[in-house]
Amino acid sequence: MQGKYYLIISKNTAQMLIINKALKENEVDTDLVPAPPETGTVCAIAVKIKESDLDRSKRILDENSIDVKDILEEKKFKLQGLLDKKLGNNVITDEFIAILKKIEEGEDLERNEIVYLLSTNNKKEIELIYDAADRIRKLMVGDVVEIRGAIEFSNYCKKCCNYCGINAANSSVGRYRMTEDEIMEVVDYLQGLGLKTVILQSGEDMQWSTERLIALVRRIKEKTGMRITLSVGEKTREEYEALKEAGANNFLLKIESINRNLFNEIHPDDDYDYRLQCSRWLKELGYINGSGNIIGLPGQTNEDIADDILYFKDMGINMIGIGPFIPAKGTKYENHPHGDVNLTLRAVAVTRIVCKKVYIPSTTALASLNKDAQVWALQSGANTIMLINTPDRYKKDYRIYDNKNMVDLEAALYAVEKAGRKLPSYLKVN
Ligand code: SAM
Repeated sequence: MQGKYYLIISKNTAQMLIINKALKENEVDTDLVPAPPETGTVCAIAVKIKESDLDRSKRILDENSIDVKDILEEKKFKLQGLLDKKLGNNVITDEFIAILKKIEEGEDLERNEIVYLLSTNNKKEIELIYDAADRIRKLMVGDVVEIRGAIEFSNYCKKCCNYCGINAANSSVGRYRMTEDEIMEVVDYLQGLGLKTVILQSGEDMQWSTERLIALVRRIKEKTGMRITLSVGEKTREEYEALKEAGANNFLLKIESINRNLFNEIHPDDDYDYRLQCSRWLKELGYINGSGNIIGLPGQTNEDIADDILYFKDMGINMIGIGPFIPAKGTKYENHPHGDVNLTLRAVAVTRIVCKKVYIPSTTALASLNKDAQVWALQSGANTIMLINTPDRYKKDYRIYDNKNMVDLEAALYAVEKAGRKLPSYLKVN
């Protein structure tokens, strides 16, 4: 993406969606991106348009009497001084210096350059990669760590993903399904904490039909006005559309790996092309589109991870969840070693460098391997944390992998403070 871009800043989410819809209906190419930190809260979303569409967009908004808060030229990305740091006796390669210069200029990196960043063992180079990622994070989304509350409302799943502990074939896991009222109790608690976004996650549970989900989304929206993230797997375009119309804002559907062979190996009963299509539909429908991958899958290479990162960028993915693979009892990969924490952190950093203005969670899977890994992820480019708010009586059975850390508010406060970052002003903590 070269050339100038403009960001349309709205007063609130509802208005942002109206703007996006009106422009899209008039065939203006739009993208939904996190708004610059100085224009509002970190969860605000701006509508991004090309300079060549600016006048036409203004006219369309005018004709439809749609108010906007502001229209700003997207700041040209410049990050000076990455190489000014004292190198001492450290030797860094010419190839690395050339990559760092491209990062400073905000230029797109080639696949081989991304692979280099993921693979280097040179300590100084690694330090400079994390420094670049942290600075880009600060510039793009600011210092506030967005905190979201997740409810894992059912662990029934019809799918048989080889890595996942709640896959249909795993008889070692106790099954549960929360009722709408049970979910609402947790939603009320999250609203009481001041949180702005609730994440509803489950296996692909046929009993939690789209009709029931629509009713739940409407009820949450009417009662709390909170933003709703769904993470309920693959559906038809019509179903995604109906959920969007009911009030869902964001959707998390990780590609897990963009390598077709690896995807097929880990998903014996899933269709690669259909999953990609789902992600495209989510984008077309105006969802804030979440994807992500798993680091440390059997046979995965750094080239595969580089391709995942390029896919996130090319698809304009807004939220990118990067977590290490962790084995789950009763699955095909129960004896496969867990993914490397350092490689996962490196993937977080390189994703921030390549994708820039996106949400990157400091994932629960990282926290499950090391209490401080969430701190390190925040220092490597991540900017959100998801609290696990599944009721205690069910938590242990949402065992997508073993020894899962139940990241709670205390853990999140610890990570934010230790990483030297800011809590969101909406959070009500004593
Ligand atoms: N069914 C929904 C879907 O397919 O998107 C959402 C639920 S699924 C359990 C949520 C995420 O858990 C997956 O996207 C996957 O990345 C992650 N996950 C499952 N098993 C895992 C494992 N063993 N290690 C790391 N992540 C895992």
